[in-house]
Amino acid sequence: MNALEVDNLKAGYNKSEVLHGISLKVGKGQLVSLIGSNGAGKTTLMRAVSGMIRPSDGAVSLAGKPIQREAASKIVRLGMAHCPEGRRVFAPLTVEDNLLLGAYHRLPGFFGYARKAKARLDHIYALFPRLSERRGQLAGTLSGGEQQMLAIGRALMSEPTVLLLDEPSMGLAPVMVDTVFDAIQALKREGITMLLVEQFAQMALAVADYAYVIERGQLAAEGSPDALRQDPRVLEAYLG
Ligand code: ATP
Repeated sequence: MNALEVDNLKAGYNKSEVLHGISLKVGKGQLVSLIGSNGAGKTTLMRAVSGMIRPSDGAVSLAGKPIQREAASKIVRLGMAHCPEGRRVFAPLTVEDNLLLGAYHRLPGFFGYARKAKARLDHIYALFPRLSERRGQLAGTLSGGEQQMLAIGRALMSEPTVLLLDEPSMGLAPVMVDTVFDAIQALKREGITMLLVEQFAQMALAVADYAYVIERGQLAAEGSPDALRQDPRVLEAYLG
């Protein structure tokens, strides 16, 4: 059974359809990348998968369970976390409070909360030592790269089995992009299933087990990274 399956998904905003029927699969423990130019619908797909917007048609299943009608908060509890484009950390809160908010829907309500939360925090701080050093600092004062680590850390606090990562490298200095990709590799070694949207197609393919190309709300190509690197259309449009 696939960790995540999307079947003929349609979604958009108001009356304008952006996704015209997208189907994809992410196997357990796989990292699948989505490539496509600006406005192709990648972010809309992530939103429709995680319940941030309601699909107009089609199905999304998480470990075989249909979730396309569930609320985003329920989808988090079922094991999917969405690290959104643009990071969206809570600027006036500390690093640690931002992280704890990410655990809100998943940790036990009272008994055992402190122990569980501490274990999760330790795990995130081991992955991103920079966040540990800055745990008491207000998130709004972090650099872009640190905010990206925080956004990923916050998503990980809910102990997801499937993580959606939307353009984690956006606007970051090259050294920070490397740090974020090192973290993505570490998460892969932990066995977290990931769906990654990434503007740098080369990097998206370098970490992926499989990839899909989206153009104007439809799939234009799919395949292993090696196969896509040799596809003349992909080469010309995204890897040139
Ligand atoms: P980018 O890399 O620029 O974010 P993308 O592939 O993620 O591109 P989307 O953000 O999904 O593309 O946008 C797809 C289409 O949906 C675009 O035409 C965009 O203008 C439109 N769109 C995105 N967000 C909204 C919104 N909140 N309301 C209305 N239209 C939107």
